[in-house]
Amino acid sequence: MRTPIKHCRSCGTEVAYRLPPDGDTRERAVCPSCETIHYENPLNVVGTVPYWGEKILLCKRNIEPRWGKWTLPAGFMELGESVAQGAARETVEEAGAEFEMEDLLSILSVPRVGQVHLFFRARLTSERFDPGPETIEARLFSEDEIPWDEIAFRTVRETLERYFADRKAGRFNVHTVDID
Ligand SMILES: [Zn+2]
Repeated sequence: MRTPIKHCRSCGTEVAYRLPPDGDTRERAVCPSCETIHYENPLNVVGTVPYWGEKILLCKRNIEPRWGKWTLPAGFMELGESVAQGAARETVEEAGAEFEMEDLLSILSVPRVGQVHLFFRARLTSERFDPGPETIEARLFSEDEIPWDEIAFRTVRETLERYFADRKAGRFNVHTVDID
């Protein structure tokens, strides 16, 4: 879970978690001095399933959490970008891949940590990669080579499973997944 807000972003006074006076039903970080109410909402994590023919690109993480585990390129969406732009940016930053963005494949809610993850398919246009500092190694895996026990996050595993199932079925869908 995210760290609670400690100080008011407007005036710096220590905040208190309480019900705001406007009839709101959730406790919020309320500033006792300037009365600013700090709303906290889920963050978006955006990424891609980059493919080269039958193979999928995975990145070995060079950062915590899950150092050394394999993941799809993904990260927190930035202000001022669309979900597809964020997914493309993360794919460049983490894998140094060249690709063309395709359609949305999965949207996964992870309420326990207040996140929504979105993955797009991305068609690689080169099999040369130039991983950034967050990645130890970026390489292609066929379906039977995927290190299922070494996948960093459940959202990545769920997304890969749906990608391969759709590919077998010959038709890609958008999958809505809730993860507890
Ligand atoms: Zn304040």
